[in-house]
Amino acid sequence: MKILVINCGSSSLKYQLIDMTDEGVLAKGLVERIGIEGARIKHDTTGKERVVIEEPMNDHKKALELVLGVLVDKEHGALESMDEIGAVGHRVVHGGEDFASSVIINEAVMNALNKNIELAPLHNPPNIMGIEACKELMPNTPMVGVFDTAFHQTIPAENYIYPIPYEFYEKYKIRRYGFHGTSHKYVSLRAAEILGRDVKDLNIVTCHLGNGSSVTAIEGGKSIDTSMGFTPLEGLAMGTRSGDIDPAIIPFLMDKEGMTFDEVNNMLNKKSGVLGISGLSSDFRDLEIAAEEGNERAKLALQVFTNRVKKYVAAYAAQMCRIDVLVFTAGIGENSDVIRKMVCEGLECLNIRIDNELNKVRGKEAVINKDLASATIMVIPTNEELMIARDTLELVK
Ligand code: ADP
Repeated sequence: MKILVINCGSSSLKYQLIDMTDEGVLAKGLVERIGIEGARIKHDTTGKERVVIEEPMNDHKKALELVLGVLVDKEHGALESMDEIGAVGHRVVHGGEDFASSVIINEAVMNALNKNIELAPLHNPPNIMGIEACKELMPNTPMVGVFDTAFHQTIPAENYIYPIPYEFYEKYKIRRYGFHGTSHKYVSLRAAEILGRDVKDLNIVTCHLGNGSSVTAIEGGKSIDTSMGFTPLEGLAMGTRSGDIDPAIIPFLMDKEGMTFDEVNNMLNKKSGVLGISGLSSDFRDLEIAAEEGNERAKLALQVFTNRVKKYVAAYAAQMCRIDVLVFTAGIGENSDVIRKMVCEGLECLNIRIDNELNKVRGKEAVINKDLASATIMVIPTNEELMIARDTLELVK
């Protein structure tokens, strides 16, 4: 079966067409600036030249119409006809407490998704728009929703309840949900597969380090704790997000700087993290170069970032008694030997010993621990699209 995987942002749409007979990618692409001037699609069919389509797209439906058009295009496409698409898998950011696994999308699911908008006002509406557009353009093709939060629904209450009045959990469902679940799940399963072990026998800590970053403790294949919380703002310091801070800083700044609620929110999400500390960039490549050249604040930003990762890894080691496997994934985790080294150094007390030579890998699967007595340290490129396609196939089969 051929499965189309769709990931809609507010003005973007990423897609992949995967042939599930061999899990090969037939085509993939990115639509940018939907609803804005200068909209375009960058489309790659495997084995053919990239094509860029520049055309006004008022909404996600128009964008999807053009994507389906290029997928069946005689010259640039990968399909004879749209009927070859057996199912569509949609990434959905927030499933709230309603979804502990992926689901076939029907009326009841759409109602639940709409109800969860208040939990993810920035992310869920574009996800829903993508599903609605697909329903209109491919009314007879089954669709599946795969949630970023679902993998973390196994986290026990003592790790998801915040120490604030319990009534706010009951009233508004304020609790830890966790995100990047599809990625944490994929790399933990892949780690077990590479090692020839049953995931049920392993305690794994997965570090998804990208623009947004999170760490997850996975015991016997189940997420038992994760660093992101009610929203993707909690936990690690990130490119532009603060992660954990003393909540009292917020009223203090509102008072001293006369900042409004929106301004504080914007500051914590867009102007903080390593960008905020360095005053330079949110991109780790820039920061590594600047730190190398002696820029003290870039150095400090990298230290703050990696110290936070270390603290979470150590906290999760304490929760699971031991770590068998430590996995690095996503843009930074897959590519930066500098960050991996900084995270691992000092964690020898947890039996984590990185090999500086083996660590010199970029963007491919590798085992990078020093000796067999150490916990296994791995680099595993994430593949959320494949995970979504597998769940979709499983449900529509
Ligand atoms: P997203 O969360 O948007 O999916 P990615 O997982 O693609 O992000 O991660 C993007 C980040 O990865 C970039 O901001 C950059 O900081 C980092 N990155 C990519 N390549 C490298 C590299 N070679 N060295 C260090 N950092 C890198």
